[in-house]
Amino acid sequence: MCENGESNGVAAHGPTTSNGSHPVQGQPKSSPYQSVQDYLSNVGRYKIIESTLREGEQFANSFFDTETKIKIAKALDSFGVDMIELTNPCSSEQSFQDCKTIANLGLKANVRCHMDDAKKAVEAGVDGVDLVIGTSSFLREYSHGKSMAMIQKTALEVIEYLKGQNVEVRFSSEDSFRSDLVDILALYKAVDGAGVHRVGIADTVGGATPRMVYDLVRTLRGVVGCDIECHFHDDTGCSVANAHSALEAGATHVDTSVLGIGERNGITPLGAFMARMVVTAPEYTKSKYNLKELKALETLVADAVQINIPFNNPITGFCAFTHKAGIHAKAILANPSTYEILDPEIFGLSRYVSINSRITGWNAVRSRADQLGLSMTDEQVKEVTAKIKQMADIRPLAIDDTDSILRSFHLELQKA
Ligand SMILES: [Zn+2]
Repeated sequence: MCENGESNGVAAHGPTTSNGSHPVQGQPKSSPYQSVQDYLSNVGRYKIIESTLREGEQFANSFFDTETKIKIAKALDSFGVDMIELTNPCSSEQSFQDCKTIANLGLKANVRCHMDDAKKAVEAGVDGVDLVIGTSSFLREYSHGKSMAMIQKTALEVIEYLKGQNVEVRFSSEDSFRSDLVDILALYKAVDGAGVHRVGIADTVGGATPRMVYDLVRTLRGVVGCDIECHFHDDTGCSVANAHSALEAGATHVDTSVLGIGERNGITPLGAFMARMVVTAPEYTKSKYNLKELKALETLVADAVQINIPFNNPITGFCAFTHKAGIHAKAILANPSTYEILDPEIFGLSRYVSINSRITGWNAVRSRADQLGLSMTDEQVKEVTAKIKQMADIRPLAIDDTDSILRSFHLELQKA
């Protein structure tokens, strides 16, 4: 059964725009940045299930009070995510109340929770529920102790009940990549037959590689007709690449959290995933998500969990659009696509060309002088560049330092 009649295994839009042009100006026709496209790929019409308010609550620093949860839920909704996932209402009385409050905010995004108790989830008023069971031999032996036959029987009973309650049902296995392939395929086929809206696979321990993901999702795609959702932990740094691979293999939905917060070092970060997808599927990504709101959204969550946005964060890290080396700066000033795969303007941000170092070049210094309204000949710019380099060999320089070197040099010229 497919959500909104969206089928799977059908060719999706590729990375090129409708008129066939590539978003990156001057991009050669054959480019390694063009993703592999085949009839299974959903890179041009993926959906986001945002789990900052579920997975993110498992982050070491997280404590979201009701007011903060509401703010985050509204910001995610405004950004345009398709579904917002909340903490299991059975976790605590407050979790139940918060689930009810957020489900009643009237957001455009659907709201979903994990469930231990199907009745409690329905009572909380969510649009969808998530039925999760650990299927790896590790979890079966050391966690819940259930056999595959028992898992299947229980799952089918709960699905039957939920279908009668008019909520969307996802069935997911935990630790999918360390589960027996024959076991999970049989189980997924059975729940697909029972009419779940979506099945999910999860790399709960963060050990999968993009190739493993591609193989598993592609195999699963051949077994179930419903949508496929994926959840990737980032323990080995593959969470964004794995999400992309999953979509290429026919997955339809990706789980994210803002800044990737979650259990241990978290899951696919929403921002980094957007950076990836705006290159792969620019038209879809730019029209569907309010990318200019990303920075405010990340700042809201970073403040709520008392962390800084990492310096190397895609898009919003403080140096994400800073160019420093002289030769880079020259090329960037002539055509930004030379050293930028992402255009900062898409995210409402701007690039910065640093001239405060010994590796600066005179073209960058010329650009800064022009910004400051200081007119100079090329020879004069080269001369002041040498002065900046001399000073930068001695100590670190701030923008103000180089600006005052430029200004006093210019003043001397006037006097001469
Ligand atoms: Zn997780």
